[in-house]
Amino acid sequence: MIVMKFGGTSLGSAERIRGVAERVRERQSRAPVVVVSALGGITDLLVRGAQMALARDPGAEELRLRILHRHHELLQELFPSGAVRERLHLYVEAIGLELDTLYKGVHFLEELTPRSLDAISGMGERLSFEIVAAALDAYGVPSVAIDARRVIVTDESFGRAQPLMDETASRVRETISPLLENRRVPVLGGFIGATRAGVSSTLGRGGSDWSASVVGSLLPAEEIQIWTDVDGMLTVDPRAVPDAKLIPEVTFEEAAELAYFGAKVLHPATIKPAVERGIPVRVLNSMNPSAPGTLITAVATTAGGEPRAIAFKKGITVVLISQPRMLMAHGFVARVFEAFDRHRTPVDLIATSEVSISLTVDDPERLAAIQADLSLLGEVRVLRGMAIVSVVGRGFIRRAGLAGRIFHVLQEVNIVMISFGASDVNVSFVVAEEDAERSVRLLHREFFEGGRP
Ligand code: ADP
Ligand code: ASP
Ligand code: MG
Repeated sequence: MIVMKFGGTSLGSAERIRGVAERVRERQSRAPVVVVSALGGITDLLVRGAQMALARDPGAEELRLRILHRHHELLQELFPSGAVRERLHLYVEAIGLELDTLYKGVHFLEELTPRSLDAISGMGERLSFEIVAAALDAYGVPSVAIDARRVIVTDESFGRAQPLMDETASRVRETISPLLENRRVPVLGGFIGATRAGVSSTLGRGGSDWSASVVGSLLPAEEIQIWTDVDGMLTVDPRAVPDAKLIPEVTFEEAAELAYFGAKVLHPATIKPAVERGIPVRVLNSMNPSAPGTLITAVATTAGGEPRAIAFKKGITVVLISQPRMLMAHGFVARVFEAFDRHRTPVDLIATSEVSISLTVDDPERLAAIQADLSLLGEVRVLRGMAIVSVVGRGFIRRAGLAGRIFHVLQEVNIVMISFGASDVNVSFVVAEEDAERSVRLLHREFFEGGRP
């Protein structure tokens, strides 16, 4: 058994969906389970529409129609005629009506809770899995569409719900395993699940990878394949540096670190269930299927000490708390972290001095409340519009000269904060957003392009 997950980038057009069918057909003898994202860009539109509905902006209706139109158009291209197309047209219309009801609810109540947003943002996957299953079938791959909300059972933390593995395991046994035994290809939407009470939830943006890994680890699959629009994990985001190079193998630890620091090709949580069961994950290009891709393994096969990739993440906020009088009196650091904990906001990087602490947060939603709490402890400053740039690898602590090379290359860039040595696998620092791409390019040139100017 294998799990094949196709991201939105692989589902943009009828042509691409035919490519997906081809990839699945080639692997039919390995009993594939297919997990699909929403069509590229649809989740963004759904969320934007919800925000517009909240603001009572009539543009929400335009977005809704645009979303439906994209799906109808795709059906037209995929199934030029016949009963299947008719059925799917009606299905898209039904989801469209549901979306209309939800947008209206948000509009009139002027309230958009994480729970309602999940019901809305998950509609992209509810549309795509039915379409892809029918397309596979039409392509001669016998497939069955399965609503992932019947399979992935989650807790109630809407917006980033956690799969409940025991309950999900029995659902996988009941719904997916019998299909595989009958040589059918189960096709399910990623990203979505439902609580024990049956309320729709989502695993957080980019969460289809996680769905694939949850299903893959429970089957268990012999391999989890993440099909996307690049050749694999690359030494840097190719959108920032066109000269990015393929990384043939990385360890789970490196991949998690890369994902965490912004190499968005993989959702960070993907790695965990797969590592726990020792299942290899492979990142592959659906547009270039003969490329070997990147294999993510449990054990390192390359020597440590050299950087493996550069990652960056924008939209970071730096919070500086200083308390000169306390000279970091004992308990100060604990109280600072308590404030973040109380407001359930994770902290990424930390740097301390005698009288101050700087830290970064990714999610500024509860920042005002945190700031109010922190102002009781000392003077607080907040810097928005920052970026974290990370050099990721292994065995960094024993590596002489690495920090020197990094900071030599970046001598022209204003570095706001540095985190070095906290982990053996990355060196990270904070720069202003507008310096992020330049820093990334300079580092990539130094470590991956032989330092040429
Ligand atoms: P999908 O729709 O398949 O889930 P994503 O947009 O989530 O696709 O992830 C693929 C994208 O991740 C690529 O198009 C690429 O621009 C971006 N990316 C960022 N960092 C990296 C990296 N280090 N290696 C490969 N891709 C990366
Ligand atoms: N469609 C969802 C998103 O855009 C999940 C995914 O693509 O992984 O975030
Ligand atoms: Mg993705």
